[in-house]
Amino acid sequence: MAAPELIESISARVHEAWVEAKRGRGVESRLSQGGEQLMVPYEDLSEDAKELDRAPVRAVLAAVEAVGAVIVEPPAAAADDPRQAVWDRYPNDAREILRDAVATRCTGRKCQAPVWRGVTAAKGVPTVFDIKPNGEYSGTNHWRTCLDRDRFRR
Ligand SMILES: [Zn+2]
Repeated sequence: MAAPELIESISARVHEAWVEAKRGRGVESRLSQGGEQLMVPYEDLSEDAKELDRAPVRAVLAAVEAVGAVIVEPPAAAADDPRQAVWDRYPNDAREILRDAVATRCTGRKCQAPVWRGVTAAKGVPTVFDIKPNGEYSGTNHWRTCLDRDRFRR
């Protein structure tokens, strides 16, 4: 299941693209069935209107999952990485804090170490943890051992 943050950020982009396409065809106004103006920034939409954008995004993500494809997000760009707080709180037990963790490889160009990615139960943020080559959890988060860890420090 895709993380809510992922659905939300994709939905916002899809909405902006829809608005842009409408404007490109000279359309300046589109109302929902309830009469709400939809050609406004995503964050200004009501929850009901946001659902109109989220529903197809969920469907696409479910289809991506169904065909066995994986969306790999780049490491968080923010200097104030919210994952750090999770790691500080649970330094040694990814099993306890990761939901639906999947084995994959680090996307670092030099690194590509086997890792687990999942969404932390504590904070609901996508996180990457190390695994041993045999698949066993190694007890550290990947940020500390990544061969490309400079990209995590912005
Ligand atoms: Zn790495």
